[in-house]
Amino acid sequence: MAEKKALVCGAGGFIGSHLVRRLKREGHWVRGVDLKYPEFSETEADEFLILDLREQNNCENSVIAPDGNSFDEVYQLAADMGGMGFIDSAECEIMRNSCLINIHMTHASAMRGVKRYFFSSSACVYRDMEPDEPELSEKDAFPALPDNEYGWEKLYSERMAMAYGRRFGMIVRLARFQNTYGPEGTWQGGREKAPAALSRKIAEADNGGIIEIWGDGTAMRAYTYIDDLLDGIILLMHSDLENGVNIGRQEYVSVNDLVKVITDVSGKTINIKHIDGPVGVKARNFRVDRIGSIGWKSRFSLKEGIAQTYPWIKMQVEASRKSE
Ligand code: NAD
Repeated sequence: MAEKKALVCGAGGFIGSHLVRRLKREGHWVRGVDLKYPEFSETEADEFLILDLREQNNCENSVIAPDGNSFDEVYQLAADMGGMGFIDSAECEIMRNSCLINIHMTHASAMRGVKRYFFSSSACVYRDMEPDEPELSEKDAFPALPDNEYGWEKLYSERMAMAYGRRFGMIVRLARFQNTYGPEGTWQGGREKAPAALSRKIAEADNGGIIEIWGDGTAMRAYTYIDDLLDGIILLMHSDLENGVNIGRQEYVSVNDLVKVITDVSGKTINIKHIDGPVGVKARNFRVDRIGSIGWKSRFSLKEGIAQTYPWIKMQVEASRKSE
């Protein structure tokens, strides 16, 4: 069988750079596109273009495969993106930049005749929940009431991709990711998400020390290890599942519990000081029977995933101390 050609947008980012590696392992020819190269390791893409995908002509150029034909698969993961602190403070940037990327990339892919188009949406499309409420299923995203502008942008971009799919016969697959973590994810600088931010704080703290966390630590969340997410992306892309599909591990923990898991892995004793900060929703739990119906199953417990991630973040903290 001829090797498939895949375009990964956002290939310099956390999930995109891992996805390039996975697609290479599965025998694809891969082009990555991003504003930057991956920060923590060499890309494994066959070709890597540094382009701003907010520009229409850059999207049009990136979807032309080297042989002049269209790509078999486009994975659209480029986004102006970060954890709660970033989502809270950069709503205009998120709405503008991510919409522009999605508008141009969806259009360019459909015009070029791309066969399969994957869009990375988010659990942020769902409304806030009470911690003990039953899990939401995909259809519960409507009537829509996302808690933040990041979620609204994702809903708009999901619907745009579906509209282009219907009109131009492009197969569109939409995944709604739960909070995902792992080695080589952003761990400092303001865009990091809770597992990375807390791992960094714990790695920086002395044994017996104190770390600050935003809010009272009771917000309930589920966290997905990167390898589980990649399994879901690949399965979904090659499946018949239409419309939004949730991908995420159903292991719900409070932020305080997450601190405990990381502390256990670190071997330290850590005390928590609760401070004011952007906390986000109280809870967000979703069903995963749709992705389960095509064989997806989480392989990594939170503890197992953190055991892979914390040592990597600790290494980054130590390396940055040495270079100071
Ligand atoms: P990331 O920030 O590490 O990766 C996004 C990449 O997009 C970055 O490398 C960035 O440089 C690139 N990008 C931003 N603007 C660009 C532009 N104008 N042109 C070209 N490239 C541009 O984020 P991630 O965690 O890898 O997330 C990937 C996708 O998954 C995003 O769409 C995100 O919204 C979605 N998602 C992630 C999570 C998570 O927990 N990580 C959860 C839900 C959804």
